[in-house]
Amino acid sequence: MNMNPTSTGPGDRHGFPIGHFGLDSSKTYSVGEHLKSARKRLEDIELALDQTSVVAFTDANGVITYANDKFCELYGYNRTEILGNTHRMFKSGYHSAEFYKSLWDTITRGQIWRGEIKNRAKNGTEYWAFATIVPFLDLTGNPYQYLSIRTDITALKEAEERRIQLVHSEDRIRAAEEAIAIRDQFVSVAAHELKTPLTSLQIRLELLLRDSQHGASIPSDRIMKVAESSLVQTRRLSGLINDMLDVSRISAGKLKLEMSRLDLTLLVRELIAECSEDLRVAECEIAYIGNAPVWGVWDRSRIEQVVINLMTNAMKYGRGKPIEVEVRGDALKATLSVRDYGIGIPEDFMNTLFERFERTEAAEKFKGTGLGLWITKQIVTAHRGEIRVRSRVNEGSTFEVELPSQQSPIV
Ligand code: ADP
Repeated sequence: MNMNPTSTGPGDRHGFPIGHFGLDSSKTYSVGEHLKSARKRLEDIELALDQTSVVAFTDANGVITYANDKFCELYGYNRTEILGNTHRMFKSGYHSAEFYKSLWDTITRGQIWRGEIKNRAKNGTEYWAFATIVPFLDLTGNPYQYLSIRTDITALKEAEERRIQLVHSEDRIRAAEEAIAIRDQFVSVAAHELKTPLTSLQIRLELLLRDSQHGASIPSDRIMKVAESSLVQTRRLSGLINDMLDVSRISAGKLKLEMSRLDLTLLVRELIAECSEDLRVAECEIAYIGNAPVWGVWDRSRIEQVVINLMTNAMKYGRGKPIEVEVRGDALKATLSVRDYGIGIPEDFMNTLFERFERTEAAEKFKGTGLGLWITKQIVTAHRGEIRVRSRVNEGSTFEVELPSQQSPIV
């Protein structure tokens, strides 16, 4: 075996660490004795390496000029089949062309390459090796041969792969369990929320029917009242059903945006006008800030949903207090903010606020499912926008939505 050791520590002018060659540094030796000792040392290293590692030499073109017994053994070829060939004969097809390019770039630059490499033996068995490839440079600094020293790490890699697979399958099981838990929670919240308005609707209609069946003349103002409250309940029901449809659509990745150019200022003003009755019932004065048109390309009905969700929450959690709505923008983005002076949101709830079904304790006494903000955030994200909130308990909350004016949506 042909080896040129490199210096590893303090040594003589040849780079050989004298003290390591079994010579007594207090004595004087002839050059011949030095050489003999160095040669012995090299033979020892060669033996140790041959016993422990898979070793090969190639010339500057990558043609194999030496392969030790372990090398032949590992890849199942006899030496004559190997010598004169290149390492290509062991390629497993696992690594990319870039991988080999970067390996060659490193060693042809005269630098040592270290890494894990997967090779295929003659009988098709694949082996992982940790390889160190050392270029040997001539006097002009160009590599004239390469030494590769490998350690078989197949067992280690297989154990690692088994471990990763196990983690992945555990992750999959956990994700499936989570999905089932969310679905169960969804079904129970939905059933509960649908049942309440449905029951009250049913009772009112049954009473009306019973009275009319008994021949009682029903005053028209009572009919009006029942009709009005039935309308409120059916609106709530259809809102809930829409939310549920949205949740399953979004969860299945089927939220499709229909983009069109619109003025956010105008849209928000129209929605405020439409909510005037709800605002009156909630006893909320509304102040609108910003008159200039703010144009952008968005999905009209989805942006309406965002505005309505935020305004509904402001009325619900800030009943009897004023609400401020502002739209501002420039050529790049539009910002909508909805501020209320209601119950506010505790600091420790800020991270879960936009998750499904999450509601603060203080919100428990108000009707709701904990889905509105999750849907709102999904819509804003699909527009490549952002939603933020600032809040203080008992002082109020400000929700701010930022939408890029001209982005293509995430679909
Ligand atoms: P819902 O209002 O149906 O419970 P949301 O998803 O709209 O569901 O809101 C989630 C939770 O966030 C609410 O239950 C409430 O605890 C809190 N929240 C949302 N908006 C406000 C607000 N403007 N003021 C105070 N708390 C709010």
